[in-house]
Amino acid sequence: MVVHMRHTRSHTGNRRSHHALKEPRFSVCANCGEKHIRHQVCAHCGQYKGRQVIDIAARTARKAERVERKRRELGEEKKANEAAEKKASAGEEKVAAPLDAETLSKK
Ligand SMILES: [Zn+2]
Repeated sequence: MVVHMRHTRSHTGNRRSHHALKEPRFSVCANCGEKHIRHQVCAHCGQYKGRQVIDIAARTARKAERVERKRRELGEEKKANEAAEKKASAGEEKVAAPLDAETLSKK
């Protein structure tokens, strides 16, 4: 059975009148003076209500280490790729460069 009920624009608008997003509320951190979201730990110093919750220094150190490791891995991968490409280009004929928009439009 199908429910026959006209869904007017007015009804839709009334329903959606409550869908607006509220802007986040900020408080000033008592420790470092940075703004942080209310009832949440300060992202700048890692304190909440005068208590150290997150070790920010350790976290940034970890992140830097992770980035460095990733960069090293990528660098090695790049070298390996270049070596493989050199081998391929030496063995095969030159592969045509990918067509850009200008050359395609001429054709
Ligand atoms: Zn803080």
